Amino acid sequence: MKTEQITWLLDKITVSPTSFHAVHTVCGELEANGFTQLSENEKWNLEPGKGYYVTRNQSSVIAFRLPEGEYRAFQITASHSDSPSFKLKEMAELVTAGHYVQLNTERYGGMLCASWFDRPLSIAGRVMVRENGRIVSRLYDSGDRHVLIPNLAIHMNRQANDGYTYNAQTDMLPLFGDENAKDSLLAEIASKLGVSESEIVGTDLFLYNPQQGMVWGNDGCYLSAPRLDDLECAFGTLAGFLRGKSDNLNVYCLFDNEEVGSTTRQGAASTFLADVLRRVHLALGRGEEDFYTCLAGSFMISADNAHAVHPNHPEKSDQTNRTHMNGGIVVKFSANQKYTTDAASRAVFGEICRSAGVPVQYFANRSDMAGGSTLGNISGTQVSVATVDIGLPQLAMHSSYETAGTADVEYLITAIEAFYQTTILPEGDGFWRIG
Ligand code: ZN
Repeated sequence: MKTEQITWLLDKITVSPTSFHAVHTVCGELEANGFTQLSENEKWNLEPGKGYYVTRNQSSVIAFRLPEGEYRAFQITASHSDSPSFKLKEMAELVTAGHYVQLNTERYGGMLCASWFDRPLSIAGRVMVRENGRIVSRLYDSGDRHVLIPNLAIHMNRQANDGYTYNAQTDMLPLFGDENAKDSLLAEIASKLGVSESEIVGTDLFLYNPQQGMVWGNDGCYLSAPRLDDLECAFGTLAGFLRGKSDNLNVYCLFDNEEVGSTTRQGAASTFLADVLRRVHLALGRGEEDFYTCLAGSFMISADNAHAVHPNHPEKSDQTNRTHMNGGIVVKFSANQKYTTDAASRAVFGEICRSAGVPVQYFANRSDMAGGSTLGNISGTQVSVATVDIGLPQLAMHSSYETAGTADVEYLITAIEAFYQTTILPEGDGFWRIG
């Protein structure tokens, strides 16, 4: 069903074509809900009962809400702001066949290439501008100025339907315009930003699918949109975070660069979360032992979308741990700990969902398939806390247009609100009190 929350989610995805925009959108919601921005470059003065947020590289953000009293643990959710795409190289314009200007791009992450062909695409990202002796960052979105990656006709590629291997350099470059488009990319960007070309001193620009999200199927049971992995979890956990208040330090994390391994300054493998938690403690005048005591009792939900059983390929899913759309939140398991979930974290999360009336289902990869990786175990290398890996079941992960279940969005928001509303406290190693 297209509820108010689904409309809200689809609207947020539309205005978040890149990780920079996603973080900007999240910060806007935080501001609207009374959160105060902090800078990593300045001293922090914190007041109990208030909410704060801090960004890194403008593409990751961490928000937290201080309880009135002294907290004993951190309750954290983490999701990611980026999605697979094509990044424009420097010197992107490329004249081809005497009549075309193409854009030279490279792959960002592991996308399903076929889904990017023959549809209008737009360009968005961050542009650095020289302004009165300073370098400032501006968000850019080409909007309805489109580009397109044309397929090769079946007559010129008879193998197109027989498992074709796409070459990122020769098959995937978008058409920008005809020969008159030469030397106009920077001019277009400058004109849209209201600056001169010579003032542009750097860009991080990506292609994106501008198609609007839609609700479909019987009773509106499905939704399709670009970037559901992982903006569905990013905004779903945000909605829950904004509503919940526990006696612990509630923390919301949105990390960039999950699709390329998370090992950047702003990725889940960075010190960002550890730095923020430590600085909160310092600002409150709490000691180091106290920090480690809190850390030992903390709990994290790593929220990144999961695979629903596919209608054409049910054999690709595990025989017993397969999930379906609108069946509830997916708890992911992996014996080799690619997912962090274990009996303890499953039990804690399961109890929160049970009291909130939210169904959960369980996912494991087929034993003969590697599957993907996610945030939980990577973030755990810097901030080692009990973690559960969850997600919402979806189809066509890493397509430029993905599909998920509408009821699951409501389940996620309800469960995350319950998580942030519940005070989770450890009672020794392996024992928890919830409530
Ligand atoms: Zn993901």
